[in-house]
Amino acid sequence: MSRIPRIVILGAGYGGVVTAIRLQKHLNYNEADVTLVNKHEYHYITTHLHMPAAGTDKPENARVDISKLIDEFKIDFVKSTVAQIRPQDKKVILEDSTLSYDYLVIALGGEPETFGIPGLREHALTIRSLNSVRYIREHIEFQFAKFKQEPQRKDYLTFVVGGAGFTGIEFLGELADRLPKLCREFDVDPALVQIVNVEAAPSALPGFDSELVEYATEALKAKGVVFRLSTAIKECTKEGVILANGEMIKAGTVVWTGGVRGNRLLEDAGFETMRGRAVVDAELRTKEHDHVYVIGDCSIVLSEQGKPYPPTAQISIQQAEACAHNLIATIRNTPLKEFSFTNRGTVASLGKGDAVGVVGKYKVKGYKAAMMKKAIDIRYLFIIGGLPLVVRKGL
Ligand code: FAD
Ligand code: NAD
Repeated sequence: MSRIPRIVILGAGYGGVVTAIRLQKHLNYNEADVTLVNKHEYHYITTHLHMPAAGTDKPENARVDISKLIDEFKIDFVKSTVAQIRPQDKKVILEDSTLSYDYLVIALGGEPETFGIPGLREHALTIRSLNSVRYIREHIEFQFAKFKQEPQRKDYLTFVVGGAGFTGIEFLGELADRLPKLCREFDVDPALVQIVNVEAAPSALPGFDSELVEYATEALKAKGVVFRLSTAIKECTKEGVILANGEMIKAGTVVWTGGVRGNRLLEDAGFETMRGRAVVDAELRTKEHDHVYVIGDCSIVLSEQGKPYPPTAQISIQQAEACAHNLIATIRNTPLKEFSFTNRGTVASLGKGDAVGVVGKYKVKGYKAAMMKKAIDIRYLFIIGGLPLVVRKGL
């Protein structure tokens, strides 16, 4: 290659933005041309989205302009939507142009997994982007306004959350905090409001520490959440959800948090995928093309036991750091590093001032866990934007 190599990064979520920031910091002038492509001119902090979705925080607090995170003298930012990835030609087709690359980083995140359940795509809401959570927040308020016009329609005040994984549980905590405030604002009797969680597994947070699951479930029940465990949603309609036993829950709002899959563009590009997530080698490159790296929710990394690691921000950030290292190593012709995941634990919020978590060998719950969650959020803001971003957003 006589000219300087071109690196294109697709997606400015956790994986993409951290890769770009690392490259910007460690590449020397004229070592590579780096382009970052993202649908929006902002990065959204996905791990905050349950709050603006319920309306307990403003969407702006989960939004950071990309121009504040990268140095546009070092990284070209292209605001556009990726339409197709053509690894055979080393090209990416955007909605309005085409980019060529020597090395590609795909960090396009995931999409809601609906398992082919009829009606979910059409009628359920999902927590997946800033725009989707703005919609959920407005939709929830609108149900109260509609109820005031048609007081016989108690179903407007029923809120179903499908799935009690971490997203479902964190959203339930915020929703249970928000609805009493909406009752006061709209002069609605709180006894008329129902929050129902429907979970297919016998317990919430399947696979998580049982003592903490019990704590989380009891804390949410105390705030009014009704759990329907061992109960699968089999259909979603305009009127609500139909359960596996045929029962219907009429609801004005159905939020689906039943799981994620990889971005469909990866399957379309012909990469080997499992639930839309590309299988990568130890250096995070696709099996088919060693100049294509895939990281974050659209990649799959297996643990030593051969089980896929859950898609999290934590693993996305670590992958981004390894990916940036390997891109620089490739350009400098030095050895690549194998990716290895260090699990720093999991903390999930249960609404204001309450959370549960496992950090190392310690279990935490209550206010202490909520403070730990805040510390994790602040650490991330520091990684991407240093102290100025922490001061602007986190304190
Ligand atoms: P994303 O962060 O989703 O970023 C993908 C980017 O690609 C986005 O900017 C998107 O706009 C862009 N994009 C997508 N398609 C296109 C396209 N066609 N063209 C151009 N751009 C495109 N994980 C944790 O570790 N800890 C937590 O506490 C935690 N909390 C969470 C709370 C909630 C409510 C949710 C939903 C998830 C949470 N997660 C958490 C999971 C975590 O957010 C994801 O694993 C993480 O966001 C994945 O990062 P990513 O870079 O792969 O994708
Ligand atoms: P998930 O796959 O972890 O959970 C989905 C839940 O939906 C499961 O409990 C599943 O049994 C249930 N489900 C599936 N089909 C169903 C059906 N038909 N009816 C009823 N229930 C059904 O998905 P998620 O909660 O969106 O999490 C996605 C990823 O993001 C995970 O890796 C998670 O660890 C991560 N995350 C982490 C945090 C945190 O660390 N605080 C917060 C949110 C998400």
